[in-house]
Amino acid sequence: SKTSCDVIIIGAGVSGISAAKVLAENGVEDLIILEASDRIGGRIRKQDFGGVSVELGAGWIAGVGGKQANPVWELANKTGLRTCFSDYSNARYNIYDRSGKIFPSGVAADSYKKAVESAIQRLRSEEANCNSADMAMNFDFDQISTPKTPIELAIDFILHDFEMAEVEPISTYTDFGEGEFLVADERGYEHLLYKMAETFLFTSEGQILENRLQLNKVVRELQHSRSGVAVTTEDGCIYEANYAILSVSIGVLQSDLISFEPPLPRWKTEAIDKCDVIVYTKIFLKFPHKFWPCGPGKEFFIYAHERRGYYTFWQHMENVYPGSNILVVTLTNGESKRIEAQSDQETLKEAMEVLRNMFGPDIPNAIDILVPRWWNNRFQRGSYSNYPIISNSQAFDSIRAPVGRVFFTGEHTSERFNGYVHGGYLSGIDTSQALLEEIRKEKEKERINETHS
Ligand code: FAD
Repeated sequence: SKTSCDVIIIGAGVSGISAAKVLAENGVEDLIILEASDRIGGRIRKQDFGGVSVELGAGWIAGVGGKQANPVWELANKTGLRTCFSDYSNARYNIYDRSGKIFPSGVAADSYKKAVESAIQRLRSEEANCNSADMAMNFDFDQISTPKTPIELAIDFILHDFEMAEVEPISTYTDFGEGEFLVADERGYEHLLYKMAETFLFTSEGQILENRLQLNKVVRELQHSRSGVAVTTEDGCIYEANYAILSVSIGVLQSDLISFEPPLPRWKTEAIDKCDVIVYTKIFLKFPHKFWPCGPGKEFFIYAHERRGYYTFWQHMENVYPGSNILVVTLTNGESKRIEAQSDQETLKEAMEVLRNMFGPDIPNAIDILVPRWWNNRFQRGSYSNYPIISNSQAFDSIRAPVGRVFFTGEHTSERFNGYVHGGYLSGIDTSQALLEEIRKEKEKERINETHS
């Protein structure tokens, strides 16, 4: 079957939905969102686990309390989303070694300070390397220590994978403030998206407007020319439009899920390939009762192991869901890929061994485990984009720039806020505005041609 419309939006994550909303509000009513999975939300995704609602993807609203308001925080307040203040800066005072001893706070604070200093130095040296070979020559590389002991490795992990703001300014925190709030709402983080979409994707009874949003539509081919675009889905449907907005993740762009006809130009594919994909995995474990310390400053704790990132970063959910008896451990990149490839039972066994090292042999076994697989999900291929710290705005310009009638949006196209929900949200607005401008120009051209003929 063949369907025609003005604009096709590929992907119903936060960026696709915010893009659609802006278009609809500005008179582009004839649009279709094609979503590969059976739901909206993309990397915002809740799941019922152990009697509560847990967030497999985005969990925090990051950047709250500053001079400028974070638009996602504003949305959350407007819709009454339940959130909990969350502060992982205390994690460094709860570092366990393999025998279950907590490192004294003085030792932890010292190690932390050293790690921040050497991370800053490493950054400076990269900058020097980047700016001129001369500057790099003058740099004393021996000064920079590399983490070796378990506590150094653990701190290096939390610093680089969680607290980069300690090392370099991050727009999310400098613009919107340093506060972070954990979403703790049974309706999920995704409730924000349903609220955003309710006026133009759903009927007043909550039914999906099928002429606007189609689920289970995996886009496999995108043909584009000077006159329009044609999109083919896995089930053989064809959709034609004047323009397409592509909101799939950087990992999907790097994969061969969607083929382009004609192929994307070199400057585009090179920019896409240069962007790193971070895999970030939250594993949830449910216990019959709790055996970990609770109370102020205890929400997060760290396991120091000789392998970097081996079940390092832990959080209990008692603050958000008291009595839920759930622990969350976060793995990244290589460790994420490793556990995605093994059975959940093996992961459970590894996690239990780590917990027994920290809390002793008598703790109860977990009764349930949940392991998200963002890396092996062909509609995601990772968790979020990561640009090298020393990257110029050229990289973003190329990733963001339209190719003919194909426009690009998504978290990875946000120069200031890539990797965050608000990055996705704001990128959708930016891309739609660029497209609206293009439509205006085209109309103007048509008008001029008409008056001349
Ligand atoms: P997506 O949400 O990925 O939307 C793209 C959509 O396109 C998806 O629905 C996908 O199914 C669909 N799609 C893919 N391929 C096709 C195809 N071929 N055809 C049709 N549809 C397709 N951000 C924060 O602010 N705070 C956090 O605490 C946080 N933690 C995170 C933790 C994890 C584990 C992950 C994975 C992400 C986290 N993020 C966090 C990042 C945040 O979730 C993302 O930046 C944001 O949700 C991305 O939105 P998006 O619209 O750009 O992409």
